[in-house]
Amino acid sequence: MKIICIGRNYAAHAKELKNEVPTAPVFFMKPDTALLKDNAPFYIPTFSNEIHYEVELVIKISKNGKTILPQFAHKYYDQITVGIDFTARDLQEQCKEKGLPWEKAKAFDHSAVIGRFISLSDLPKKNEVSFSLSLNKKEVQQGVSNQMLFSIDQIIAYVSGFITLKTGDLIYTGTPAGVGPVKIGDRLEAKIENEVLLDFEIK
Ligand code: ZN
Repeated sequence: MKIICIGRNYAAHAKELKNEVPTAPVFFMKPDTALLKDNAPFYIPTFSNEIHYEVELVIKISKNGKTILPQFAHKYYDQITVGIDFTARDLQEQCKEKGLPWEKAKAFDHSAVIGRFISLSDLPKKNEVSFSLSLNKKEVQQGVSNQMLFSIDQIIAYVSGFITLKTGDLIYTGTPAGVGPVKIGDRLEAKIENEVLLDFEIK
């Protein structure tokens, strides 16, 4: 399986990092070794002094497809959760300055934390999914899926024009404003609506 992540998909977050608001989805990938699941602790890697959390809605692809039309994209996923796209912000800034790829900053081991999946059909509004992240019990990020610059269906259509999507692939759909650093001893808890789907510690 592969992990596809969308960058700059919320205008307020693009602005907080002083990035332009994109006119087409920006995406990058993480390898399967980036996954961290079952509320396992995250160990801060030694190569960065600035690991940031980014809470994101994550969908799981439920059937294979390529060049999917936006109007059919909803047939390609039926489960959703919240995840953290951990980012070595210091390394990312260096990569961005030099115009280099972001893998060092984004694709490292355990940088893709994933919560427990729920069925989209269990949600009150499929196109208005609210989610949030708490750091040590204080809410630091919150978003609603209808604030995305590119909807999940648009993302699937766009990405599948370049890369075949396969059953089990994950798509991280971008983070709202409020990203920030983690330190040893922190606890992150992420919810969809009012249901906690992810709860883990930083070590
Ligand atoms: Zn992200």
